[in-house]
Amino acid sequence: MIPQKLEVLEQTEHKLVLVIEGISLEMINALRRIMLTEVPVMAIDEVIILKNDSPLYDEIISHRLGLIPLKTDLDVYKLPQECECGGFGCPLCQVSLTCEVSNATNAPLMIYSRDLKSNDPKINPVDPNIPIVKIDKNDKVIIEAYAILGLAKEHAKWQAVSNVAYRHYPLVEFDESSLKNPELNSLIVKMCPEKLFTMSNNNTLKLKDDYWRYCTLCMSCKNNSEGKITVSPKEDVYIFSIESDGVLEFKALLGQLFKIFNEKIDEFITNLEDLEIES
Ligand SMILES: [Zn+2]
Repeated sequence: MIPQKLEVLEQTEHKLVLVIEGISLEMINALRRIMLTEVPVMAIDEVIILKNDSPLYDEIISHRLGLIPLKTDLDVYKLPQECECGGFGCPLCQVSLTCEVSNATNAPLMIYSRDLKSNDPKINPVDPNIPIVKIDKNDKVIIEAYAILGLAKEHAKWQAVSNVAYRHYPLVEFDESSLKNPELNSLIVKMCPEKLFTMSNNNTLKLKDDYWRYCTLCMSCKNNSEGKITVSPKEDVYIFSIESDGVLEFKALLGQLFKIFNEKIDEFITNLEDLEIES
């Protein structure tokens, strides 16, 4: 499974879009599914509430804490079930975050994710400004929380990506000389929902150069051109986009993805060797 071509189309802090050429649909879907459910990240899994004067129940606060995205370091931490401590909790598989806030002001006070103090400076909430709960004057909240690595197939709070999806690379082809009817051309221009066509003064229909970034294969141009425009998905070429809330850097995420993928293949081969297949 070596892609023939790999190109970064867009990269921001929270989004990565790639054009991948030369791998099958099944393979790219396998990568998507691993990314969605099997890449481990940190999330709060155990909460001890020592004091809660807020109007929210302990359970609601715990649920909110669990959903706060935490920066993850996969070089240091292990999944509890794979840790030498047997999953009881040790510095190799667990991070503690404490929050102690008392409202000494005369007005209501919001507790934010930045009020969680971690015992590992590298494992902190991705965004310091996530509101947790509001407390009234003279109220106090004391919380002790434990974060561990986990997999999204067990709970969505451990999801490494916010979204991951792929779509076919669209191929729109036509012969300009066969499309000279001004009425037909203006209909094609008007009906394209992404406005990817233009018409020049001499009625020549033009397609934008980067149409493939926006084309959704809706077939509007094909249906309005009496079949003179062909629209098809380009075989084995995909636009793959990953959105992240920042728990894992894209480089670490992709590294983990292929590590897990290879482990699965190895496991499959081992299981296959153990099978007694009659020749
Ligand atoms: Zn441990």
